[in-house]
Amino acid sequence: MDKPQRKPPRGPAPLEADYLELYQEYVQGLRPGANSNYMGFCPIHGETPGKSKPSLSVNSESGLWYCFAGCGGGNARTFLKELGEKRSTIDRKIENLPKSAPGSRRRVKSQEKDETKVLPEKLLGVFDFCPTALLREGFDEDLLLDHDIGYDRKLRRVTFPVRNQLEELVGIVGRRTEKSEYGKYKVYTRELLEYGLTVTSFSKTNYLWREDRALSEELPDLYVVEGFKAALWFVQSGIENVVALMGSHMSELQQKKLVESGRRILLCLDNDVAGQRATIKISNQLATSRRFVIPLPEGIHQPDDLTEGELRTLCEKPITISKAKRQWQISL
Ligand SMILES: [Zn+2]
Repeated sequence: MDKPQRKPPRGPAPLEADYLELYQEYVQGLRPGANSNYMGFCPIHGETPGKSKPSLSVNSESGLWYCFAGCGGGNARTFLKELGEKRSTIDRKIENLPKSAPGSRRRVKSQEKDETKVLPEKLLGVFDFCPTALLREGFDEDLLLDHDIGYDRKLRRVTFPVRNQLEELVGIVGRRTEKSEYGKYKVYTRELLEYGLTVTSFSKTNYLWREDRALSEELPDLYVVEGFKAALWFVQSGIENVVALMGSHMSELQQKKLVESGRRILLCLDNDVAGQRATIKISNQLATSRRFVIPLPEGIHQPDDLTEGELRTLCEKPITISKAKRQWQISL
């Protein structure tokens, strides 16, 4: 192919989709994270879906990429070079794209760090005590360890680390263990000052709990629950493709992540009027996705009130939202 004709000057706002389209051509399983970052399977070192977690981060706005498995990083041009594309092919593919920022490994990394306010992993050591309350409720110790669930002795709260899709620690949420209507959950911000950390920007509505795990797995279904314990109980029951909203509301960003996952969404919120109303609302918000409801039986308030076997059986029978509405009519 000869040199194509020069295009007229482009407008001031580059199309965000441009780089995404380019990367989609080469990268399998691209899924959106925060701030125009996407994670996918790195074709440079030949990552295949199902065999490992995706290591490649690309930014749809700047066109920069970074492979966490050691391939390095750069701009779209260096990416295509790494894949052995011919000079002429690269020129053709890059020509119409917005100018990429100068691409270096350091730049991509620092950008992410700044934007997501990543917390040091060693912080978890502070809460490295066994949450015995959860053990008493029947949760496996290994499962709790695997999710870095800890205990804050000072504030007497079970601590749940929140991670972004790159598996980086971005926040800590403490859950009260004693029965109390007041302050069941606490998003740690000022509490972390004591450990020399300032966390001013963390909002749990920007994340789905377990998005680092459940969004990177290649499974057709995605279960959505309200709380940490509900999600943990799903995992303990052998259903690992589950995320928690960390509440009964779905934020716009959470909605975006769920919709863009392309999965069939299975809603299993708490079995009370608030949970039922939330289910209907969320179902409406997810109108563009295939979504179903896992209705909890009467007398069961949340998934962890069931046995593992009961939960597995229940999950085999999702129902439509209209059927759920009919079932709930009495209480709505
Ligand atoms: Zn790689």
